[in-house]
Amino acid sequence: MTGIRALLPVALVLGVGLPTGAQNTAPAPSTGQAPSTTPAPAEPAYTVRGRDVERLQRTLRERSERLHTRLTGLLRSWAPDVLATLEPPPPGVYGYQILPRIIPDPPRKTGPRTPPQVVSYSWRWSETLLSNELQALSKLEQAVEAVVPAASSHDTLAAITTDYRRHMSSRRMIDADIDYNWLWQAAIAGQRPAFDAITATLEQARQQISRNEPLGADVVAAISRSNPPAYVSFRQTAPNQWLMTIPVSTDITDAGFVAQVKSGIEKHWNVQDGDRSFRLELSVSTVTPEVLYCGKDNAAPCRAPDRGAHIDLGAHAARFPANTIVITTGAASLRLVGGLVLSPHDVTPGTLAHEFGHLLGFPDAYFRGYRDLGPEGFATLEFVPDRDDIMSDSGTGRVLPRHYESLLRARGLIPGL
Ligand SMILES: [Zn+2]
Repeated sequence: MTGIRALLPVALVLGVGLPTGAQNTAPAPSTGQAPSTTPAPAEPAYTVRGRDVERLQRTLRERSERLHTRLTGLLRSWAPDVLATLEPPPPGVYGYQILPRIIPDPPRKTGPRTPPQVVSYSWRWSETLLSNELQALSKLEQAVEAVVPAASSHDTLAAITTDYRRHMSSRRMIDADIDYNWLWQAAIAGQRPAFDAITATLEQARQQISRNEPLGADVVAAISRSNPPAYVSFRQTAPNQWLMTIPVSTDITDAGFVAQVKSGIEKHWNVQDGDRSFRLELSVSTVTPEVLYCGKDNAAPCRAPDRGAHIDLGAHAARFPANTIVITTGAASLRLVGGLVLSPHDVTPGTLAHEFGHLLGFPDAYFRGYRDLGPEGFATLEFVPDRDDIMSDSGTGRVLPRHYESLLRARGLIPGL
């Protein structure tokens, strides 16, 4: 639909997991704002509010970095064994060759699930997260000030360091939330009619699920289709066994990181269903940034972008060999632009597998709509109807036999419905 899709688990973690201010709301009927007599502002509301939020984000970052420096000094003198566990502040920047951390998938929950709800993100929600974290940081600052430097302060410093790590993990989530808002509020502003249509579908799906009715056949058909690129190959290795092979090219030269990405995606896309099995093999080749930009002969004077450079993602992706899926870096928020473009924000194997689903032509099976909040910008609304489907929820969902059935049908390898 938009060609840019963000990282789902971030949104779900932020919307559902945090205690205060999580706004689970049903979308209001889109009556719009009353027309105003004052001239339209030169700048859209969402960017004005976004900059307010960024100011607060900067305050948090600066105070957090000062605390890191102070704590590092204390640990070096009085608890050097703890120093190694004090992680550096997140880079707070995005750019070429800035890699995310690949963090484990969330544990699978057992027991009854809460019914699907519409979850909302907005600048106001980002501000709530920031204010809460600034309060938590004040407590940490006070605790550090109260330390009386001496050998006996070791345990106190160790406890403060543990709290500091928790603060860092909150900061990472907040940074991701803010980038998510920038990405999607801009998308909404640029494509109102498309988002109006999805918002209507979202509301329809919400009502059907709340009445325990199945989703409409047209909606199910729309979210179940796939369109595997021609270079994706399928081979039947035994009567009930299929192997899907995908050529991948990447300019990430950290082999360990690439191996983690490959195995994370493959693991999710290996599906066993009774005696049927479906497997994915990624055939990864690495193109160094130098070769990507200067060619093999390196004749003309040229250079690859510097680490951290903000690059034109589309032009960058176009440099890769044709007929491969591209995995590269340089986005502020995980995106699909000519391939999978990683951001500095933590990512799970489930999210990478979800994005791979898009590269095989599956649309999102969750709905992202919006509400116009006037001077507050937009609220982005998300509704996840089926938490077992990886294209609906990359945190709890899995790749299902029906995903492979859809791919094989699209190729005419198994009969259509
Ligand atoms: Zn998606």
